[in-house]
Amino acid sequence: MKQALLELRARLREINDVESAAAVLEWDQSTYMPAGGAEARARHISTLGRVAHDMRRSSALGELIDRLRGHGESLPPGNPDGALIRVARREHERATRVPSELVAAIKGHVAECFVTWTRARANDDFKTMRPLLEKTLELTRRYSACFTEHDHPADPLIDLYDRGMTTESVRALFAELRKELVPLASAIAERPLPDDSMLRGDFSRDDEMELGREMAGRLGYDFARGRLDLTHHPFMTRFSRGDVRITTRPSKDKLGEAFFATVHESGHALYEQGVDPELDGLPLGGGVSAGVHESQSRLWENLVGRGRPFWQHMYPELQRRFPALLGGCSLDDFYHAINRVERSLVRVDADEITYNLHVMVRFDLETQMLEGTLSIADLPDAWNDRYEQDLGVRPPDDRVGVLQDVHWYVEKIGGLFQGYTLGNVMSAQFFAAANRARPDIPDRIAEGDFKPLRDWLTENIYRHGGVYDPLDLVTRATGSPLRIEPYMEYLRSKFGELYRI
Ligand code: ZN
Repeated sequence: MKQALLELRARLREINDVESAAAVLEWDQSTYMPAGGAEARARHISTLGRVAHDMRRSSALGELIDRLRGHGESLPPGNPDGALIRVARREHERATRVPSELVAAIKGHVAECFVTWTRARANDDFKTMRPLLEKTLELTRRYSACFTEHDHPADPLIDLYDRGMTTESVRALFAELRKELVPLASAIAERPLPDDSMLRGDFSRDDEMELGREMAGRLGYDFARGRLDLTHHPFMTRFSRGDVRITTRPSKDKLGEAFFATVHESGHALYEQGVDPELDGLPLGGGVSAGVHESQSRLWENLVGRGRPFWQHMYPELQRRFPALLGGCSLDDFYHAINRVERSLVRVDADEITYNLHVMVRFDLETQMLEGTLSIADLPDAWNDRYEQDLGVRPPDDRVGVLQDVHWYVEKIGGLFQGYTLGNVMSAQFFAAANRARPDIPDRIAEGDFKPLRDWLTENIYRHGGVYDPLDLVTRATGSPLRIEPYMEYLRSKFGELYRI
């Protein structure tokens, strides 16, 4: 058994090597690659993707997993070997169900889609995207049909990113959340908008990058095992535990945009840098799901970074860095400005209250597309109607409407959006549990000391990597299954005080 396990680890590490090599190419593509490299690079990445897929579906790997099956099932939950065998089996089965020809068709198609989308978005041209998106939907449905045991065609896609959740369970959670969020957003909309003019000015890229670098380091991001670079759409990527990179996009005219983006990506990176070294290079060696990952970025960005204790310590320093803008502005006014709630058109710029409403629009539309109850031709109108209904604003064009997010244009349709809101909900549940265990966390944050919080997160979340299934991890770390109450309590208390409601 020992020999078989060693062989399994070796094979899985090789798959990880190929995928990590592809990740380096993708990082380079999004940061420093000259435009002329685009075509060949898409091919390089696609070839490596196919190689990894073939390795994962190989019959030799399948036989090895079969031999280990009984052994894996006899191990208790939380045992890394048991988890490894389970995850390897799941990924192998998934890979064998999807024909290589379909994987290649999807990869080739979405590469074309992405390139067309960058132009279509700039030109507000949904018409050009329409046939491509119809093809994406068709390919996605073929992908989904490879998995026969599901209730909804979105289920296999959701399972890919947020294991344990289904269309039905996401819908139930969103419905519960919606019932609470909509009245809260309406109550806030009746209050005066806080002034945020002190955040607007003319910033140098260097000042912002320096501030971001400094902050990431203080939160605990280890620059000996990472780096910060510039990009258009900030992201975090991991090649190994020793090389976890983050990117940011400086804003020339609004203070805070780059700062919060950097804190967000640092949150993702702290998670990846904190995984147990023993798991490195294995399928368990990274964050466990999209939702849990997003819970870490949002926890650091919002619950910490947009919180009052954080700025008690940081604000005087920010004033020193930007004296012309902030010299005469009180901490209170600044705190209001960075927590301004406004119904808006663009998800990535949305505040903590309305953000989830943006996510729900996308989730509902994509499940309808997959069901066949919404056609691509009707998508832009359906999008605009939902914005009017849910957020009270109607997009004037598709650029800030249906073309705004890259997700549907760079991947299959479905599975990618629910994780954002699951992450928000989880972030508050984790933070509340950390504060219960270490009641000094807010005071320590107010002193600029993030170690007690980071230690709790490392102990209860980070180090486990993918050993526990996401929903089990939530229950183990917080003492209760995933629920919306801690998140709603957090929002009500923070925004109730801010907006006096
Ligand atoms: Zn994120």
